[in-house]
This record gives sequence, C-alpha cells and structure tokens, in this order.
Amino acid sequence: MSAVNISIIGAGSAVFSLRLVSDLCKTSGLHGSRVTLMDIDEGRLAAVQILASKLAEEMSSSLQFSKTVELEEAIEGSDFVINSALVGGHSFLERVRSIGEKYGYCRGIDTQEFNMVSDYYTLTNWNQLSYFLKIAEMMEKHAPNAWLLQAANPVFEGTTLIRRHSKIKMIGFCHGHYDVLEVAEALGVNKAELDWQVAGVNHGIWLNRFRRNGEDLYPLFEDYASSYECNKFKPSNPFNVQMSPAALDMYSFYGLVPIGDTVRNSGWKYHYDQQTLEKWYGSPWGSPDSEPGWKWYREQLGEVTGATLALAKAIEQFPDVSLEKLITEGSKGLSSDFTREADQLYDKDSMSGEQHIPFIDAIANGNSARLVVNTLNEGVIEGIDDDVAVEVPAIVDKDGIHVEEIDPVLPERVIQWYLRPRILRMEWALEAFMEKNPDLVVEILLKDPRTKSFEQARAVVQEIFDSEGWSE
Ligand code: NAD
Repeated sequence: MSAVNISIIGAGSAVFSLRLVSDLCKTSGLHGSRVTLMDIDEGRLAAVQILASKLAEEMSSSLQFSKTVELEEAIEGSDFVINSALVGGHSFLERVRSIGEKYGYCRGIDTQEFNMVSDYYTLTNWNQLSYFLKIAEMMEKHAPNAWLLQAANPVFEGTTLIRRHSKIKMIGFCHGHYDVLEVAEALGVNKAELDWQVAGVNHGIWLNRFRRNGEDLYPLFEDYASSYECNKFKPSNPFNVQMSPAALDMYSFYGLVPIGDTVRNSGWKYHYDQQTLEKWYGSPWGSPDSEPGWKWYREQLGEVTGATLALAKAIEQFPDVSLEKLITEGSKGLSSDFTREADQLYDKDSMSGEQHIPFIDAIANGNSARLVVNTLNEGVIEGIDDDVAVEVPAIVDKDGIHVEEIDPVLPERVIQWYLRPRILRMEWALEAFMEKNPDLVVEILLKDPRTKSFEQARAVVQEIFDSEGWSE
C-alpha cells in the first residue's frame, strides 16, 4: 500500500473532483494519501474541500485535503497531477462561439469537421493550450518524477502537444469508450463475456474488436442495423447518441462502429442545421452539440454547481448532518444521470468510471488495470505517425503502460477518411498555436463549408483574437 501526493488542478469542477475522491475512498491501497485541491475560484475551491473532506470522513477513509490557488504550491512534491481546469470557463467558450455565429459560423468556428464537441476548442482556446504547457514546465522544475494525468480538453491536441514539448511522464484520459457497453446491451450481449478493443484518437475511436468467446459479434450488429428503424430513435438525453441513426450511418460508411464522442465528431452530413441534427441524433435536441442540446447541458452544470455550493454551506453550518442523505435527497430533481451519479458516490462496489484513480493505484501499488489511454502512437496504429497521441487500450502496472496490440487493425477507410484528416487538423491547430499565428486559423477556415469569402474568415478571426485577453 502506498500513500501518495495527488494534486487536482481545476478542482472546483465539483462533479469531477468528487468522483475522484469517491474513487480514492474505495481504493484501500491509496488510503492515507494527501490531496491538494487547486483552483483560481476560491468559492468553488472551498466548497469542494468541505465536501471532499466530509465524503472521505463518511466513507471512513484516511485522506488528507489541502487547498491552494497557487499552481506552483499544488505541484511541488506531487506524485500525480490531474489537470481538469478550463481556463476562461464556459463563459469564454460561449463568447468566442457567439462571435463566430455573428459571422455565419453556426456553433462557432471551433466546430469543425470531426471536431463538433462543444467544449473542445482547438483553434481559439490558446490560453488552455498555454496552461497545459505551463503545468508541464512547472512539473519539470518542481515534481520531475510525477505523472501528469490530463482530463481537460482538448485531450487529443493537449496530449500530443505536451508529449512533444516536455519530458514529463504524461497520459490523457477520456471516458467515452464505456459506450462499448451500450452497444453490447442493445444487442443483448452479456458485458462480462465481451472481448473488445477500441482504437483511434480521442473522440475518434472505433470498435475494431467485438467478440465473445472467439466469435465475431459484428454479424449481430449487422442484423441489428438492417432491421433498425431510424424514425423510432428517442434519446433519453442529448448525450444518448451511441445507438443513434448517425452511429449506424457512420458504421455503414466506415465499416466499424464509432464509439462514444466519435458519434458526435462526425461530418457535416449530420450537422448542417438543427433539422439535420434531429434527423441523425434524435429529437428534441439533435445531440449535445446543437443549440438546445448544449443549453440543456449548461443548465445541468449550473444546477450542479449551485447545489454543490449550497451543500458545502449546509455542511459548514451543520457539521454533523449526513452529506450522503443531503446528496441523495437533493439529486432527486435532477436528470437520471445525475441521480445515478449521486447514488454511485457512496456505493462501495461501484467506481465512477473515471480512470485516474485506477491508474494511480496501478502505478503506485501494482494493482494492474486495463484502461483506455491517450499516449503517443509509437507504432501502435499502422499508418499514423509515432508522435501523434492515439487512444488505445493498455494494461497499466507498476512498470508503466503496456499498450495492447491492435487486432484486428483499423481498416483503411477509417485511417484515410477519418483519422488522417482529423490528425491534419490537429497539426494545423497546434502550428497556429505554437506560432501564435491567427493567419493560419484563417487558412483553416477557408476549408470550412460555412466560409463564403476570404473577408468573412479574416474578419471573424480578427474579432475573436482582438477581443480576448490572450495570456501570451
Ligand atoms: P468548469 O468550468 O465547470 O470547471 C473547470 C474549473 O477550472 C473551474 O472550477 C475553474 O475555476 C477552473 N479554472 C479555470 N482556470 C483555471 C486556472 N488557471 N487554474 C486552475 N483552475 C482553473 O468546466 P468543466 O465542465 O468541469 O470542464 C473542465 C474540463 O474538463 C474541460 O476542458 C472539459 O472539456 C473537460 N472534460 C473532460 C472530460 C474527459 O473525459 N476527459 C469529460 C468532461 C469534461
């Protein structure tokens, strides 16, 4: 058993932080660990510290929490640094999006072919990318042996950028691959019997292996697809897109099932306008990345943030009250996903699904785990450069990360028509960022079907980069 020093940057993201703390409480090998919570928002930070301490106390786990607004203080002496900060917050993303919309770019200029996820800004959120490098640099100085676990988006651009420019040990995580289980459930396959692999890049992963006891289950999916009635698809919430008509249509073109956020990160065919979105992702939202879908998500986030602050206040005033009871009662009015989430916090048999704590337990204690990780390709996926971050399954243990052989390999259709174009966009975005050159962003926009003139692209980029206080 190893007690370790973990710092969480952007810890004010309450749902994420409490998931991690709950996982820590359920991981006996990490009891005794010290957790430093860091955020620039002192109100959110104080609330998370109160809730985290109470949660650990109620779950009888000996964890110590401290808080700071100083990045350096958080990193100093850490063994593991988890970054979940969103520099500028959602309001920054909305501001940039609204400038884009003013110039005719529906859902903003960062919404691009194969990158439709609404908080995954690659073209304009240079402050976020700069912060990634700042954390890495600070780790080189103050915690050179520590691991950086990247949760903040864009994970694809971020992992590639940090790994190319820093020597620190680093890994990116996303939870989208769990939707493999949704595919299994839809087909009536027992999840425990499943032999699966996914491979690709973050938000662009494909179900390359789908077997049970050596039997290929793709024919089962084929049967499902051939009797599928698109007009009957009714999502339970905007994120419920794994078995949407868009996913099945992508399967028919690419030959593999797209998994998780890959279904959102599709082509313009599915995203032209609200009517098109609803056709492919179901009504009434048409995916989380439509105007109503993202509004739904922001409202849920707002409610959760408000509830977190209120809960922390209640605990501060009445320290003996049960947090478990308050959370269970309080989550009843929220969507079923958040209610399930609240129930899971105290359920000792159920981890949150975030991979950070199992990763730390594997590295620190040798409790090996099969995880899906973002790491440099280094020959894993044929046809992709070595220094590009890929998302692939790996066994993690005390000796590090052992990426699985991708078998069967991804088809050419996925490599040539999805991954390579997405990788090229990542390279363009990183070059624009590294050179701090907005002209390159204009050049990228010229390839966007929404651009009708050079003047339109130049004007939108100029207004975005003139209007914001860039840190560089
Ligand atoms: P949020 O705005 O609710 O929380 C982010 C936190 O970062 C806030 O508390 C904010 O105060 C803090 N912050 C801002 N600037 C900071 C700085 N300079 N230093 C330290 N903290 C700072 O955002 P969110 O919705 O929780 O999303 C956070 C990030 O996680 C986003 O990039 C989002 O895309 C990403 N995300 C990743 C996954 C995944 O699986 N990898 C899933 C969901 C969200």
